[in-house]
Parts: sequence; C-alpha cells; structure tokens
Amino acid sequence: MADAAQQLVQIGRPGKKPASSDSLVQVGEQYPVPKKGERARRPPWLRVKVRKNQTFDEVSSLVEGLKLNTVCEEARCPNIWECWGQHRTATFMILGGVCTRACRYCSVTSARPELLDPHEPENVAEAVERMQLAHAVITSVDRDDLPDYGAGHWVETIEAIKRRSPDTKIEILTPDYMGDWDQLKRVLDTHVDVFSHNTETVPRLYRRLRSKGVYETCLELLDRLDKYRVEHQIQMTTKTGVICGLGEEIPEILEVMDDLRKVNVDVLTLGQYLNPTKKHHPIARFYTPEEFEMLKEEGLKRGFKSVVSGPLVRSSYHAHEHVPQALDNK
Ligand code: SF4
Repeated sequence: MADAAQQLVQIGRPGKKPASSDSLVQVGEQYPVPKKGERARRPPWLRVKVRKNQTFDEVSSLVEGLKLNTVCEEARCPNIWECWGQHRTATFMILGGVCTRACRYCSVTSARPELLDPHEPENVAEAVERMQLAHAVITSVDRDDLPDYGAGHWVETIEAIKRRSPDTKIEILTPDYMGDWDQLKRVLDTHVDVFSHNTETVPRLYRRLRSKGVYETCLELLDRLDKYRVEHQIQMTTKTGVICGLGEEIPEILEVMDDLRKVNVDVLTLGQYLNPTKKHHPIARFYTPEEFEMLKEEGLKRGFKSVVSGPLVRSSYHAHEHVPQALDNK
C-alpha cells in the first residue's frame, strides 16, 4: 500500500468555465471544462505529491513554537511540501494573521485586526537563525488600520534578522503602505537584497477583485524602488507577481509586462490562480504549461532579468535565485 503521506492530491476546488479564448495571443488547447454533473478534475499539471517528512515536521514545530504566521499555510500554497520538506524554507508573514483588506482571491483572514505582537520581529529573526536560512523571505498582511501601515514593525523585523544572521539575504514582499511614500522610504532605508510588491492582476480587474488596491499606486511604488536604488547606489532586485486565471486576457498580461518594464522591474513571477474555497472568486481559466512558457518568453523579450512562470509558481517560489548576485550570473 502506498504511504499515505505520499498520495497524489489535487489542489483547490473545481474550476469554472474558462473565459472566452479570443485572446490575440493563444497557445495550445484550453483544459476541458467539466460538463454539468461530471466530477470536476484539475489538470494533471496542477497535482502535487504530498511529501511530509522529518524536515517538514521540524519547520512546522519551529513555526508553531515561535507562534509565527507563514504565507505558506495561510495562502494554502501548493509548494509547501517542497519548500518546507525539501528546501527547509518558509515565507514568514508578519503584522499578525488578519488582513484589513478583502481581496476576493486571497485566503488570508480578513477581519478586525489584531494587536501587534511586539515579540514578532525577534521571533522571526530567531526562526531565520535556527533554520540557518541563506535567504529569508518576509511578507505581511495589510495593516491599513495602523498610522504607519506597519512600516515600523517591518523595519524592526528586518533589523532583527540582520543582527542575528548578518549573512542571510533578505527578500521582502510588502503592501503598498496606502501610497504613503515616507513609510516606504523607512523600509527602503534598511537596504534589503530583494524588494517585492505584487501587481496581482490586470488593471481592469482591480476594482472587482482588490477594491482597496490601485494599479497606478502599485506601479508608482515599483518605480520608487528603482529610483531609490539608483539614487543610493545599492544592489537591490525589484520584483513583482501576477496571478493568472482570474479573468484576464493574455494581451492584458502583456500590457502589464510593458508597464512593469517601464519602471525597470527585474523579476516577474506568473502562476495559476487556485480558488482557496468556493466562496472565493472562481477560477476563470487554466493556463497550460505551454502558455506559461510563452508568457516567460514574452517577458524575457521585454527585458526582465528573470521570469518565473508556471502553474505552481508563487511569489516566493525558489526566491533565492533572485538576489542581485544570482541574477548577475544568469
Ligand atoms: S512557494 Fe513561498 S509561500 Fe509557497 S510554500 Fe514555498 S515559500 Fe511558502
């Protein structure tokens, strides 16, 4: 009998009928939509093997023991078995486990926010040290309720990691600080190795899916990262991610790529949307591996230093490959 921990699982919930396929750029067949009454099946490329092992358990106990939140768990990331179990890495989520926004594709709890845990910066730094991470990735919920939108807590966390693990490369994936650029600058002044802010979707879908997000603010933030690194002459990668399958058309993704290159973003990640529950925005379309490959080529043609594109790709997937030194050697 197969080991129960190695069974094949399907991620997420059955998809809905894909959006119209009249995109200007189209590669390959769309994955067939299940007929009414038929058991819905995810495409084979979205199935992952559960590989729970000792390393996975160690990371899990460490996270639990230090009362930390990870986006790996909160976002029900399909790569958790690989990242925790094989690479012994995780993406820590700071500022609590409750978000003040309610994006329709996101599984992080949205509710009245919690009080900040003053021990969180030190606890995250302890986890990074005990896991001996060469590359630490930190993200956070949105805290629009705080006067500084959480920037001070970000700075404390980064400084605590630097103190305890001076050789660790630090990647941060931050909110937009509601366009308060003084708060952004406080975080920028910590001089991290990779600064990431996700675009998430195409401008047409912002209002419907992320009502408090503003596409122009996202681009301005990314532009400010670029200008900061030039002005301060620091090596810092800029990075963003777009989710595919929310209802956008491929030409719209290409237009977003053009916008991102205008502000010199270095790294783009593209991955398939999987709705966390039936209550979340439905999957509009499954992209095939060939389509992800085509999008990667389109991105590279436009000048990104790296495009990580694939069904299971998430912002922090194989993140260590995006520190400036690694990109220079590509
Ligand atoms: S890809 Fe990122 S969020 Fe997903 S398990 Fe890996 S580190 Fe966690």
